[in-house]
Amino acid sequence: MICVSIGRGRHRQMIAEHKHLAEKGAKLVELRLDYLHRDVSLQRVVSDRPCPVIVTCRRPQDGGKWKKSDQDRVTLLRSAIAAGVEYVDLEEDVAKQVPRFGDTKRIVSLHDFEKTPADLEEIHARLVACDADIVKIATMAHNPQDNLRMFRLMQQSAIPTVGVCMGEIGTPTRILANKFGAPFTYATFHQERSLAPGQLSFDRMREIYRVDEINKETEVYGVIADPVAHSLSPIVHNASFATLKMNKVYVPFRVPAATLDRFIKDCDELGVKGLSVTIPHKEAVMQHCQRIDGAARAIGAVNTVVFGDGGPVGYNTDYRAAMNSIDRRLQAGGRRTPLAGDAGLVLGAGGAARAIAVGLMRRGADVVISGRTLQRAEKLARSIECRSVPWEQRHNVKAEVVVNATPVGMHPNVDESPYDMHYLRPNAIVFDTVYNPEQTLLYKEAQQRNCRVISGVEMFIGQAALQFKHFTGQDAPENLMREQFKRAIGAAKY
Ligand code: NAP
Repeated sequence: MICVSIGRGRHRQMIAEHKHLAEKGAKLVELRLDYLHRDVSLQRVVSDRPCPVIVTCRRPQDGGKWKKSDQDRVTLLRSAIAAGVEYVDLEEDVAKQVPRFGDTKRIVSLHDFEKTPADLEEIHARLVACDADIVKIATMAHNPQDNLRMFRLMQQSAIPTVGVCMGEIGTPTRILANKFGAPFTYATFHQERSLAPGQLSFDRMREIYRVDEINKETEVYGVIADPVAHSLSPIVHNASFATLKMNKVYVPFRVPAATLDRFIKDCDELGVKGLSVTIPHKEAVMQHCQRIDGAARAIGAVNTVVFGDGGPVGYNTDYRAAMNSIDRRLQAGGRRTPLAGDAGLVLGAGGAARAIAVGLMRRGADVVISGRTLQRAEKLARSIECRSVPWEQRHNVKAEVVVNATPVGMHPNVDESPYDMHYLRPNAIVFDTVYNPEQTLLYKEAQQRNCRVISGVEMFIGQAALQFKHFTGQDAPENLMREQFKRAIGAAKY
């Protein structure tokens, strides 16, 4: 179940949000009385409540906004219990002062905005001892292991426990709480008005992550990155799981580089069956793979890990998707070296450049790397044994394939292109890996020059679809993925 926290300054706003949420199907809301500016009228906000409530009134040291005296607060909480609200949230010290009464259930809570304490179990036992029906512990996560400790706590507790890790690292605890036995998990009314760090909106929790459907059997997939919040992969994979009615969820895991080893070891306990891997882990994750697909090994980067019986297996679907797109344009007629001798100019010297350059070389192209930082371009060229040219000389290469593997042209810099269109040869293949916008300036100018164009969206959907196949063994609903992806790009305010 999802409990939606409502924190508004005016009674009528709180009542209106409550009504709206109940109409949208919310089964439980938390009324944060400490957010109300004027004297709190408990009667007004709970008398005609459209769905069950948790009444909470936090003081500043617990992350709240209560300005009046502690005595006033305790009186308010006692009144809520006397009014017969479904739940009341009491911090440890207050729980000792406020006895049980009537049918109101007691949530005994602790908040730590600094850290996830080492003695979580002891804290939990103390809260249980305060006559708790439910224990709530919310702590700040500094590494993914904090999440795992919270999952264990929820799973092993005899008393229903909601364990929340705050911050971007802690997001998985909010999404996966139900899998680990929590009675509910918290969400916010609106993404831009979260009441705690890392909280997701009710809509996102329901529509993207289908949190109400998550149970013990739900298989976990996800993307590991640092940072991870910008990733659009959760949107396309979760929509695909939903449409194929799979009991699987895809979660954004923010994994700092120093914690990767431990995280991969913990995947089994987390129930993780497969991962998308992105910056900064694509190379480091290889040492954790039992087996690595040939292309991924040749590139030296893995972007997909599948956890099977024989251990983790690494793949590179970025590479495979990019090459599928190029091969479709080559009309190769089965030749092993369809680009034999043709020059392939790769702009950029990062991970995407490396993967595509290796693929072009395997197709017989004479690959030339050009990057704005000459040493980086030279280093990449040396490592894969091809040529490089200084950035200023990129137009001198008579290229049959031009690849933009830089962010140039990406929103909001949509008037920029990394390559002067006058040097584009008609019928050349022009591949812009940038996917926002789909039709970059380079893409549009290449169309004008009658080139064969490939967009970053085609590559993104291609790599996601291949990942989905590795994860599930089934073909991905590619049209749905594309539609969701484009809608998400359109909605994102970069
Ligand atoms: P990366 O490792 O950070 O490499 C980026 C490269 O772009 C570097 O060589 C960098 O040069 C260069 N660069 C950055 N800003 C530039 C500028 N203003 N002018 C010229 N060169 C510039 O990133 P990556 O992972 O390879 O990704 C590169 C691009 O590929 C991204 O923009 C991304 O949109 C795209 N991509 C798309 C997909 C997809 O599925 N469509 C997948 C992966 C990547 P320096 O070395 O000087 O920093």
